[in-house]
Amino acid sequence: MSDRALRLQAFRQAIAGIACTDAGDVLDAKSSDYHWYSPLLKEQLAGKRGELLVRPANEAEVIRVAAACAKQRLPLTVRGGGTGNYGQCVPLEGGVILDITGLDRVLEVQPGSVLCEAGILILALERAVRAHPAMPGGQELLMYPSTRDIATIGGFIAGGYGGAGTVRNGILKDPGNVSLIRVVTLEETPRVIELHGADIQKVHHAYGTNGIITQLRLALKPAVEWVHHIALFPGYADALRFGCEATEAVGTSLDAFLLTAVDRRFSPFYRSEFGDRFPADADAVFSMVHPARLGRWRELLGRHGGRESMALTEPQLRDQGLSPAFECGWNHTTLMALRSDPTWTNLQTVHAWTPGRGIDIDLVERQMARYGDEVLMHHEFGRNAGGCVSFGLPLVSYFDRERLYEIIREHEADGCLVFDNHVVTIEDGGMKTIDDAQIAFKRIADPHGLMNPGKTRGWLPSSAVP
Ligand code: FAD
Repeated sequence: MSDRALRLQAFRQAIAGIACTDAGDVLDAKSSDYHWYSPLLKEQLAGKRGELLVRPANEAEVIRVAAACAKQRLPLTVRGGGTGNYGQCVPLEGGVILDITGLDRVLEVQPGSVLCEAGILILALERAVRAHPAMPGGQELLMYPSTRDIATIGGFIAGGYGGAGTVRNGILKDPGNVSLIRVVTLEETPRVIELHGADIQKVHHAYGTNGIITQLRLALKPAVEWVHHIALFPGYADALRFGCEATEAVGTSLDAFLLTAVDRRFSPFYRSEFGDRFPADADAVFSMVHPARLGRWRELLGRHGGRESMALTEPQLRDQGLSPAFECGWNHTTLMALRSDPTWTNLQTVHAWTPGRGIDIDLVERQMARYGDEVLMHHEFGRNAGGCVSFGLPLVSYFDRERLYEIIREHEADGCLVFDNHVVTIEDGGMKTIDDAQIAFKRIADPHGLMNPGKTRGWLPSSAVP
């Protein structure tokens, strides 16, 4: 028996009684995520697979798994819904996959906050806080990814950024949105550490490389029955001008939870579901609008030459078999396209915002002229650190690596920040710098360097305690 097989055997003995399997089909499914959005990641991550899947039912079982992994020096990848786009859940060095979805309880709901376990599906959490009597009329989460229905809250905090809700409440990183993260360390004798305030950033968006998140406390606001809305415009520039003005007004004269602009060439991907609500001769804005501000929303879109083609609540949409507006935004937009043509991929960019003017729409028009049908335009509107922001998620017809990076360099030369979604490490995809605070916390929470190895450039094999 190989040394690795002996270690896995000893690990299994140590966690006896905790749900666990090495069935090949389960390991195949649970070793993957949505990295196949990127043809480059698809090639790079092919064949990477965990060796054992464990599914603890509570924090005490997580602690036993962590202790056994540390003792046997086995790599460990935590997995929630497995919906990440950058291969965050793909175990590069095999080992144990820890399925966290057994930790799915809501622990406490108060006016303005919820304490929950990390493996709960965001949809279940949203339903629970809406129904809870802590506040008359219920409460809602401040934001969720467009994968709300299949992703976990812990996976969102460890691997996500923002999403629906960002135009109203900012990104996950903004102060107060997450007020507590509780982690189990990967040591022979694991510790439970609670992080508060700014310390939360040590673990947020660290791709599960520095501690197993077991609990979180998140801010809530009074629940709103959002109106899922489609507005059509004669040109993409009109849609963007509307988006910029509406974004700046959210929180004062307007109120919205989502604001997504897509150019008319996306229409064929939506046709079978939305029909004439998004025809081929108009550019579209998908939004979730506060019902009390719908009149003003309509006024503004009239001023920008827009017209309404849909205004329905989520229950009304479901009755008609239609997707909610947030499933037409963020990375779901790309998914819509990939369902009809798997050769599409996308980029993630940020456009500079000038207060009072928004983004440089002339630049977007020049980019559209430059790329023609090679790049289709999609912009998300949001808030970040108190200011307004627009994230570009352009769809790119993939040719080869060289051409993809040429397009990335051209966007950078245009002054757009590019978060490279075709790489596996936190640093290459994000701000290009190593987050020293996250690495310092990794020395505490994962001294042997076993958690999701290969996903951070800040950790070298020599950093590990043997
Ligand atoms: P997973 O994919 O399971 O995990 C993500 C990362 O977190 C992994 O590195 C994993 O190891 C780690 N992790 C998971 N749970 C824990 C834990 N308890 N402790 C420590 N580490 C953990 N993202 C956005 O931010 N906004 C969007 O709007 C958005 N839209 C998307 C749309 C589509 C169609 C797709 C495919 C993806 C989208 N994403 C988006 C990315 C992803 O869906 C979200 O970030 C989601 O919240 C991830 O949750 P998950 O449970 O699937 O996490």
